[in-house]
Amino acid sequence: MKYLPVVRCLLAAVLLAEVDRPLPGATTDATIQRGVDAEYPSLEKLYVHFHAHPELSFREAQTAAKLAGELKRLGVEVVTEIGGHGVVGVLRNGTGPTVLVRTDLDALPVKEQTGLTYASHVRMTNDLGVEVDVMHACGHDVHITSLIGTARLLTNLKDRWSGTVVFIGQPAEERGAGARAMLKDGLFTRFPKPDFCLALHVSPELPAGSVAIVEGYAMANVDAVDVTIRGSGGHGAWPHKAKDPVVLAAQTVIALQTIVSRETDPLDSAVVTVGSIHGGTKHNIIPDEVKLQITVRSFTDEVRSNTLDAIRRIARGQAISAGVPEDRLPVVKVDDREFTPATYNQPELVRRLSGVFKGLLGDGKVVSRRPVMGGEDFSEYGRTVDKIPICMIWLGSVEPERVAESERTGKPLPALHSSLYRPVPEPTIKTGVRAMTAAVLELAPRK
Ligand SMILES: [Zn+2]
Ligand SMILES: [Zn+2]
Repeated sequence: MKYLPVVRCLLAAVLLAEVDRPLPGATTDATIQRGVDAEYPSLEKLYVHFHAHPELSFREAQTAAKLAGELKRLGVEVVTEIGGHGVVGVLRNGTGPTVLVRTDLDALPVKEQTGLTYASHVRMTNDLGVEVDVMHACGHDVHITSLIGTARLLTNLKDRWSGTVVFIGQPAEERGAGARAMLKDGLFTRFPKPDFCLALHVSPELPAGSVAIVEGYAMANVDAVDVTIRGSGGHGAWPHKAKDPVVLAAQTVIALQTIVSRETDPLDSAVVTVGSIHGGTKHNIIPDEVKLQITVRSFTDEVRSNTLDAIRRIARGQAISAGVPEDRLPVVKVDDREFTPATYNQPELVRRLSGVFKGLLGDGKVVSRRPVMGGEDFSEYGRTVDKIPICMIWLGSVEPERVAESERTGKPLPALHSSLYRPVPEPTIKTGVRAMTAAVLELAPRK
């Protein structure tokens, strides 16, 4: 077909205008990709900075200040010191839903052994006044950088969405306390209340470039239980004159194993791990007491309460059977302040986001995964009276070749919290920014 030159010119202009107009689907994905590519060199510098300057839980002052500064530069309204060093940044863009995007800020008392040029050499004083090495061994530095990248893209793409985004930098995730502290400090009352809450967490087993979302329960209820098993001490050569708490503790540890194997529905999940047992000072002294520290994991409230009740009942029953008097029965303490509730990814939200990510990254890059018995206090944002739908996305963070080699050899890759865990920055951060930006565009679309 032939056109007059002027008509051809007009047609070209119309086509160009078409490209610039806010369009759903491939055009938006390509725009996101271009945006990420343009921002990446500066994001990598930020990542290297965060990685080399980790801070312990409740001590994230510098990390929070840097994040706040980055958000302010974009024109985001920022308030700091929410629930400790928490940062809240509100980006308003007309009417529409409010989406909360969360990063955690804290690092761990781990001595980094990765050998990376930007490895951490930081040492900090912990709560007990002891100086410890500090490392971003749980990838929270990836989460912070991805959130900053997402904020930059959403600022540049304001013509493609409508609503409000609340960016939060949450302190003390590793202590299971930061989310609760921010909520208590008015996260949902002093700032726009979200309709959806989203977060990323790096996965040490998933190849970079992919994501995974678990529908429903994704991570467990985590309880810390302290048991003091009491007897009456004496000389090791006169056991009949004592009530030996060491033998009683041993019997109790074994009896606790029946909670999962005999009392829990085989189709439910639970863990009772006695991680610490301490008692006594010397070969020939029967001590007065032995202390156990137990981690208890579950998904549902029902399995949680049954498991905790069973620990109390078994500890008490074993002591009675050993002849321990009423006033020396075991003391079982469950500290609710240390409780991390299960993360429940709302199924409808998961399906919606899975569809978006498949379109964005390709079908094979959106992997389904099983739940895990680890815990994450991101769960708290979905457990207020508002029952806000939440979703935590696993972000692949390891070179695909390393994942393949691990599968071939059966040698596991370094886990989260390992001194050897090293996410591969570029594909991980780029995928994190792309996925989170696309998720917000989906949830707060321009109509
Ligand atoms: Zn962690
Ligand atoms: Zn973590």
